[in-house]
Amino acid sequence: MTTTTVLGTCHHDCPDTCGWVVTVEDGKAVKLRGNPDHPYSRGELCPKVNRFLERVYHPDRVLHPLIRTGPKGTGEFRRATWDEALDLVKTRLGQVIDTHGGQAILPWGDAGTQGLAQMAFLDNVFFGRLGASKQVGSLCGGTASAGFAPTYGSRRNADPMDVRHAKLVMLWATNTFLTNRHLWPFIEEARANGAQVVVIDPIRTMTADKADWFIQPLPGTDVALMLAVMHVLIRDDHLDHDYLTRYTTGFDQLTERVASWTPERAAEVCGLEIEEIERFAAAYGTIKPAFIRTLIGAEHREQGASFYRTLGCLPLLTGSWKHRGGGLSRSVGIYWEEVADFSDVEVGGQRREVNMNDLGVALTDPAMGVHALFVWNGNPLVSVPNAGAIRRGLEREDLFTVVSEQFLTDTALYADVVFPATTQIEQTDMVGSWGHLYLGWNHRAIEPLGEAVLNTELWRRLARAMGMDDPVFDHDDETLLRRALPGVDVDLLMKQGYLRIEGTEDILPYADGGFGTADGKAALYSDDLAGLGHDPLPGYVPSVEGPAGPLAERYPLVLLTPKNHIRFLNTTYSKHHAEREQGPYVELDPADAEARGVAEGDPVRVWNDRGELTLPARISNRLRPGVVAIPWAWWGEEANVNILTNPTPTNWGGGVSYFDTLVEAAPTSYLR
Ligand code: SF4
Repeated sequence: MTTTTVLGTCHHDCPDTCGWVVTVEDGKAVKLRGNPDHPYSRGELCPKVNRFLERVYHPDRVLHPLIRTGPKGTGEFRRATWDEALDLVKTRLGQVIDTHGGQAILPWGDAGTQGLAQMAFLDNVFFGRLGASKQVGSLCGGTASAGFAPTYGSRRNADPMDVRHAKLVMLWATNTFLTNRHLWPFIEEARANGAQVVVIDPIRTMTADKADWFIQPLPGTDVALMLAVMHVLIRDDHLDHDYLTRYTTGFDQLTERVASWTPERAAEVCGLEIEEIERFAAAYGTIKPAFIRTLIGAEHREQGASFYRTLGCLPLLTGSWKHRGGGLSRSVGIYWEEVADFSDVEVGGQRREVNMNDLGVALTDPAMGVHALFVWNGNPLVSVPNAGAIRRGLEREDLFTVVSEQFLTDTALYADVVFPATTQIEQTDMVGSWGHLYLGWNHRAIEPLGEAVLNTELWRRLARAMGMDDPVFDHDDETLLRRALPGVDVDLLMKQGYLRIEGTEDILPYADGGFGTADGKAALYSDDLAGLGHDPLPGYVPSVEGPAGPLAERYPLVLLTPKNHIRFLNTTYSKHHAEREQGPYVELDPADAEARGVAEGDPVRVWNDRGELTLPARISNRLRPGVVAIPWAWWGEEANVNILTNPTPTNWGGGVSYFDTLVEAAPTSYLR
């Protein structure tokens, strides 16, 4: 028997980007464990990925090309050869281009893998050459980045591992223990050295239960709380005047703006006690270093970008960026992007842009003229709002749909052609992280199963079938990656499995200014935003689809759709780990349940104008009255909460307003 160990890196849409080691016996992977040498993940994976090999060798894997034989959505396919499937795609795409033009082809890819080569790389060239519509926007991350941009002019954030040096840790709208679990030991290290941990979240999450202090504002009111914190910082002179003078502009206008945002006013908006806001602001103003950690949950609102715009002002007022263990961290992905070179896959020319969150409209509005859809690295029928419209679009007989997948997802069931995709241990890649500052190499550990291919190979085969001769399609994956990482010691990265990004040791990105704005100063007042027609100052705007909006009379409950599952990773594991999770369910506060005559476990109908679901009730004290929660990511029409969620775009940044959703709920018995 031949036994080898192979270094790899987790590819999932998760900030932790853990290193792993695969044990292979006679060509079969028999064990996958965390790499104990990895400086951030330190030998631990997570409950989803600990069982990754079950996924690799699952009997439901799609291992051959499939061509649809039955009605769309029924999952009736026959096995096809690669040549046959490629011929069909070539013929149908050719017909679409001849009849409607290239823009009638819509690509839709997400973060099913975050590897540099396998996520979004050769597809740029393939769809660019076809003149297809161009996918823009993002389900997650884009709005947060765009929210910070007007203030900072840069996407650089503090090193998350520096949280260990903090004396005050503010986990704002992030369920760290669940979705960023490898940061938790660094937070515990800070706490062992005397730090306080504060969680600010509309849900009492498992992270909130572990905190020293939990603040629970009403959903969507965080910006009002931040304005009041700034009011107190200015009123009580918890300011770093030297930092403000040297490195910021617009302090006077900001002072004027927050003058009316007293703790009393914010308390009313946020549903908090005045004293709690005073105490919170005083803690932020006086305890140093104070580290703010946030992720992406707060961007999923009509005013999503404003959360990050306003939060970003806090460490500027206190000069917190000067301290190791201070500042703010949302994503550090920009550091690896700065050492990457994407010129091999850049394609010029104008293409129509379609926001990936508008898929329902794109597929159902005849004016959009979409006649072919290409999906990879994602399951949009489950992960995108307006799921009812997406399903109606996918049912269109005149829509030619191609999906590259490992399993027959809800989306893949509607495909005309399914191509079999490899898993991470069957492919080569480099995974840059947005949660730490190490690059991760992923060596192929086993040969692809069946006839599955890497995304790079899919694009190569499709490009050849369509007659494209760009030299980039001739490079193998290692060559592609070496060319895309010109300043990186790839040999060392391959040998270790991880490598600190050069120049990121001991970074304090804004200790001495260094902002990316035109004048090099942080913009508390933003001319850029004013030029785009937005409020140039941080400001609180209630959601249109919110408790103060016109729909609230009919739909008085705010619906949140959090990640609650230990074993789900977005929609990736939802089918095969479903039996290990409880749910799906609708979670209600006892007061809301009592008002509606709902008891634990009762079937409850939850609805709004977009659709309805019937789910068992779970009554808990995690939510405030007026708020319900349905965990997202369950497969199946009967459990897909994105039938209900709000597809309104975020104020800027190209995201979408999942959490500004209003519903009503009632027992099914009552309605009958
Ligand atoms: S999903 Fe996240 S926490 Fe789990 S192994 Fe992958 S990177 Fe690590």
